[in-house]
Amino acid sequence: MTTNGHDKPKTVYIPYMCDHGFILGAALRAHGVPTEALPPPGDETLAIGLDLCKGRECLPCFTTTGDIILRSQQSDFDPAQSILMMPTTNGPCRFGQYRTLQRNILDQNGLAEMDIVSPSTKNSYRGFGDNPTKLRALAWQGVVAVDLLQKLLHEHRPYEVNKGQTDEIYQQCMEQVVAGTEAGGGKALVEAMQWTAKQFEALPVDRSRPRPLVGLVGEIYLRFNTYSNQDVIRRVEDAGGEVMVASMMEWFYYTNWSVKEFSWGLGKYMGFLGMTLVDKYQQYQENKLVKQVEHLLKHPHEAPISQLIENVRPYYEPYLATEAVLSMGKAIDFAKSGLCGILNIMPFSCMPGIITAGMAPRLRADLDNIPWLDVIYDAQEGTNINTRLEAFMYQAVQFQRRVAKAETV
Ligand code: SF4
Repeated sequence: MTTNGHDKPKTVYIPYMCDHGFILGAALRAHGVPTEALPPPGDETLAIGLDLCKGRECLPCFTTTGDIILRSQQSDFDPAQSILMMPTTNGPCRFGQYRTLQRNILDQNGLAEMDIVSPSTKNSYRGFGDNPTKLRALAWQGVVAVDLLQKLLHEHRPYEVNKGQTDEIYQQCMEQVVAGTEAGGGKALVEAMQWTAKQFEALPVDRSRPRPLVGLVGEIYLRFNTYSNQDVIRRVEDAGGEVMVASMMEWFYYTNWSVKEFSWGLGKYMGFLGMTLVDKYQQYQENKLVKQVEHLLKHPHEAPISQLIENVRPYYEPYLATEAVLSMGKAIDFAKSGLCGILNIMPFSCMPGIITAGMAPRLRADLDNIPWLDVIYDAQEGTNINTRLEAFMYQAVQFQRRVAKAETV
């Protein structure tokens, strides 16, 4: 897969979705696969993507296409020595078509020799790399570490005394986590998280004025890609709030759940057993890393996927799948955990996002009318985002007061 038939292995290019991508790159390098994690998208990559796509795709397709085409225009790029990593999925979401479209675009732009490799949700992203089991286990540990690091960032930055210091610490800790992953994870990653804990323990914060806490759910690429979501988390912080983000690891637990359910339903009991063991192993690794920083976090532990599924069952049949299951299940979990608002973000015409937005009135009716804002991104920067966020944060503050008042009566 990673050689051209000669000795030299090909380089795997990973379009930037979020900082978790650096972990995937590090894990692949640890397994001897040359990898380059592409930089975050910007106006130039978006313009290239919009130009080459057909116009009916969703936003992540524009940016990931632009990312790789821009890289291919640099003089050191050799298509015959290159592989684009573009994960895929089965089911109704358009993500499953990115690979096909991008194959055409590469072919039409002089990059026919470039391969595409696509780990899939069908097997819960197993089967990639020369030692896929070990590679997946290593990538998992790194993903958990980045999720924890981002929780630390989002719980500390709104209260930092010295502006910009939390971002600086976050970057330093990211470097440690990437290095820990490249060193093979395990003890190296535990040490990276211990080092991380020390940095955040020493960070001066002022929590004398607690902020309304809102939950961010929605399409996974947008949740984590600050360019594409117009830096929505920082904007909420600037508007006086604090954000809790649905994590990356919940997606992996959800794919495990799907594989287990369908294996059981089809009578494939070995498949069910195998995925149950993977699930347990992942929880074990997660707990090991959480332990290093849990004293610094208000919400260190993830709600189990089974709980999110039960949350959503009265409103939507979980077997219908798509990311809508997670968005709704997590929104309910956030509301039950005492958060003051739900921010649901989606690319323009995203089917799971539209389902979630359509169900929001029913969910809200059962959740004490928690403030809820749907934000749709169409790559035209036309979301009027600041005005809408300010109104949303005002509602969140009122909701917080109403709940506090009811509790004191
Ligand atoms: S979840 Fe929505 S935005 Fe993401 S790939 Fe699917 S349809 Fe597109």
